[in-house]
Amino acid sequence: MNDDVRVLYLAGSGRTGSTIVANILGQVDGYFAVGELWNIWRRGIMEARRCGCGEPVVSCPVWSSILESAFGRRLERHEAEQLDALTHLYLRTRWVRALRDARRNPSPEGDAYRGALAALYGAIRDVTGCRVIVDSSKSPVYGALLATLRGVELHAVHLLRDPRATAFSSTRVRTLPDFGDARLMRRERPYVAARRWTKNHTLCGLLLPAHAASFTRVRYEDFMARPGDEIARLVATTGVHAALPFTDERTVRLAATHSVSGNPGRFTVGDVSLRPDDEWRTAMRLSDRATVTALTWPLLLRHRYPLPGGRPHTV
Ligand SMILES: [Zn+2]
Repeated sequence: MNDDVRVLYLAGSGRTGSTIVANILGQVDGYFAVGELWNIWRRGIMEARRCGCGEPVVSCPVWSSILESAFGRRLERHEAEQLDALTHLYLRTRWVRALRDARRNPSPEGDAYRGALAALYGAIRDVTGCRVIVDSSKSPVYGALLATLRGVELHAVHLLRDPRATAFSSTRVRTLPDFGDARLMRRERPYVAARRWTKNHTLCGLLLPAHAASFTRVRYEDFMARPGDEIARLVATTGVHAALPFTDERTVRLAATHSVSGNPGRFTVGDVSLRPDDEWRTAMRLSDRATVTALTWPLLLRHRYPLPGGRPHTV
């Protein structure tokens, strides 16, 4: 059996249920849920946001040990700033070049960035003893970059949800518990959310199947209809099997994870009943719904979502 770190990577767009899926997977023996790890440099270290365990990431004992094991010392702020700048440079503005460089024409900067990431993921495995890291960063470009790291075996999960639901969710006012104060999550106009949905899901299909050791597609609606079956399907892709945390068909028992970033749901613990969030079907403005449908219809059809917005067709 190879010694590579297995990364079960949740890719897609925002508000697709990745937080609850990652939280459930993180309860499985041998699995460690890290949240949206690409944000660790800025949100975890520079902004000192809270880890899923409640402590700020910078003082969480688990992350302190991981970072020390990865870099041999406590990471200085300017080093985190540098890694955050490289994240944005390589993943937001120059992603085509980033991937090309990673494969054919490595640059010293790109090598340093990928070296830091390889050290980080290796240290997570070494410190926690878990064989599977569940990363819900979602960016398809970051996922494809992880697949180029030495010592990493990427298992990609393309997580989809009806874009009318994700756009509606991104207009709602929600508090952001990361800082322990009254700050709110960033909201988005429906057309902005729809454009990003199309871009991210197109890139998931283009980049991940070719680079990952396995590629699995899951729709939020199918996950909510059969949560146990869908989680079992994801666990099967990594080859690391263990009992799932379901107490009945729709209830999971969640303990705190050490997620560094993500939606407020990452702080949820205890017995959680899984119910689909369908509020958009009755509460979304018709004009917003029409805008999102017009901007996403090719992929809606491709992934078997009906254009009028009814229940998705089954597989
Ligand atoms: Zn923690």
